[in-house]
Amino acid sequence: MAHVERQQWDVVIVGAGGAGLRAAIEAREQGLRTAVICKSLFGKAHTVMAEGGIAASMGNVNEGDNWQVHFRDTMRGGKFLNQWRMAELHAREAPERVWELETWGALFDRTPDGRISQRNFGGHEYPRLAHVGDRTGLELIRTLQQKVVSLQQEDFKESGDYEARIKVFQECTVTQILKEPGSEGEDRVSGVFCYERESGRFFVIEAPAVVLATGGIGKSFKVTSNSWEYTGDGHALALLAGASLINMEFVQFHPTGMVWPPSVKGILVTESVRGDGGVLRNSEGKRFMFDYVPDVFKEKYAESEQEADGWYEDPDNNRRPPELLPRDEVARAINAEVKAGRGSPHGGVFLDVSTRMSAETIKRRLPSMHHQFRELADVDITAEPMEVGPTCHYVMGGVDVDSDTAAARGVPGLFAAGEVAGGMHGSNRLGGNSLSDLLVFGRRAGLYAAEYARGCARERPRVADEQIDTAAAEALRPFGVGPAPADEETAGEAAEESAENPYAVHQDLQRAMNDLVGIIRREEEMSEALDRLAELRERARRAKVEGHRQFNPGWHLALDLRNMLLVSECVARAALNRTESRGGHTRDDHPEMDREWRRANLVCTLAAEGASGAEAETGRAGRIALRRREMPPIRKDLLELFEKEELIKYLTDEELTSE
Ligand code: FAD
Repeated sequence: MAHVERQQWDVVIVGAGGAGLRAAIEAREQGLRTAVICKSLFGKAHTVMAEGGIAASMGNVNEGDNWQVHFRDTMRGGKFLNQWRMAELHAREAPERVWELETWGALFDRTPDGRISQRNFGGHEYPRLAHVGDRTGLELIRTLQQKVVSLQQEDFKESGDYEARIKVFQECTVTQILKEPGSEGEDRVSGVFCYERESGRFFVIEAPAVVLATGGIGKSFKVTSNSWEYTGDGHALALLAGASLINMEFVQFHPTGMVWPPSVKGILVTESVRGDGGVLRNSEGKRFMFDYVPDVFKEKYAESEQEADGWYEDPDNNRRPPELLPRDEVARAINAEVKAGRGSPHGGVFLDVSTRMSAETIKRRLPSMHHQFRELADVDITAEPMEVGPTCHYVMGGVDVDSDTAAARGVPGLFAAGEVAGGMHGSNRLGGNSLSDLLVFGRRAGLYAAEYARGCARERPRVADEQIDTAAAEALRPFGVGPAPADEETAGEAAEESAENPYAVHQDLQRAMNDLVGIIRREEEMSEALDRLAELRERARRAKVEGHRQFNPGWHLALDLRNMLLVSECVARAALNRTESRGGHTRDDHPEMDREWRRANLVCTLAAEGASGAEAETGRAGRIALRRREMPPIRKDLLELFEKEELIKYLTDEELTSE
């Protein structure tokens, strides 16, 4: 057995974005020794890229706002598929989390009378997003990091060691969650296996509680706003540890990504551009969103340009512009315009602020966008429109967690928060609801992980040497030195076949997911995607890398492929199964929303080994098992927040009549 260093901590947080840092702060405040591990540099996470703001019903700009309105908007945005208890906790606790950030030093933009300013965003009835220009995530992460440092300074005063109770391991990747076999078949978490990206050194952190806060999965798609780290690691780690994932068919395609030049295709154009007055036009100059307001939203959106424009100054007497519909609606509309031949020269549509605001206002309110377009596309957004189109942005699906405690169902000691957790956003997330989600549930995950770990103090779970050996062997396999995992029946034959380049496998995976399980889906294409995924799994097994373990990105990608393939299969399998269109899942062959499907979650788990049957013969059986689970009925007092006429659009007759 190779020597692998072991360290003991109470709680391990995997991920140092907003959810991870908020969880770490909470666990440390509970007095527990907390380790934070992140794949990239400390401070580099999607959270830092968030532009628009944090949704919280503080009512600073419109006093009509409160948690009930926020809850309603979130449920409508998610088309009522949200875990309603999560949506409730989120709406109730978000304001407190924002105020808390302010006490920790966050400097939000202000209203003229000195309160935290709030801006409009799609699907939010009132101006609700607390922001710092279009660099909100940067301020959020800066504040949380500053809080971590201040806690470390407290620890230094007490113990002489800054890292006595909170330590960050940056540029380290977790490849496995370790578990101790339980006496009654219920294994409990015992730690994580990781490698240092720079040196390739392996190490193990032993801990009774692990919080997954690893963010999204966008790198499985070709056109995406996500950066290199987002390979669905936390989703896959949870599956491999025995947890389940829900809502994986719901992937958010943000309507406005850059479409040109090709090297930057997919980079996000923040929704604040539309929140602050930007409009979408097609190649004929038409403001086309008025043609795409679905029936369920008709009463809430303007019917004419005059009314829409009037809303910015007088929201009480005008309805909101259709450019501010939830993201799924806008993305589909742009897709349809391009398909109908009314797109921009580079296959998008036009997003214009130049005719809507002064150059000075644009530079003040949207400084990053101004900079981004000038530097990357040589476009001056104060003088000309941007070209934009849909880009894979966010995954609504994730680890199946208990709503209150963030504990992963079925795996004692495992917790998940932020984008890697499922349920909160239902079938579609509203902009701004992620930053608030990760603060609310990051805190809860840290709190309950600490409580759980404290309960294990007398009998901490152990990590067996054999587990470490197996994890190390799997990690070394791309170098051609480790044995194949036991579940790979064909590995022996595969070894004799030609080696695969991990970059080529990744590219083909991204293309398959983009083209076959993208924004508009069809049965035949998704079936084809499952076939392609089966082939790609075989190829990924043969992925080989050269060189050594010191900073070797090809090796890192070869390891990430396992995760992307698992997660992609969840998306494809669940999307094929759900025969309706809802939120971030649009079926060309089933274009309507079906009230019967509202009650259903599709639950993905790792399939038992050696699956048989027709699918297995075609190679399509894959590694994921899918089952349908009924959602618990929405609590009565929460249902009463909606008009009955609205509920009829979503709920079945049985649900409407039951007490
Ligand atoms: P992240 O911030 O994504 O952090 C994940 C962490 O996990 C990172 O530290 C990463 O290194 C680490 N990690 C991943 N895998 C591993 C592994 N195997 N081992 C160790 N560490 C690992 N939402 C809003 O609400 N408002 C906005 O304005 C907004 N704008 C956005 C703009 C952009 C460009 C993007 C991409 C997203 C935006 N979002 C926005 C969405 C939001 O930023 C993300 O959903 C959110 O930040 C996710 O936070 P998180 O803490 O869950 O994970």
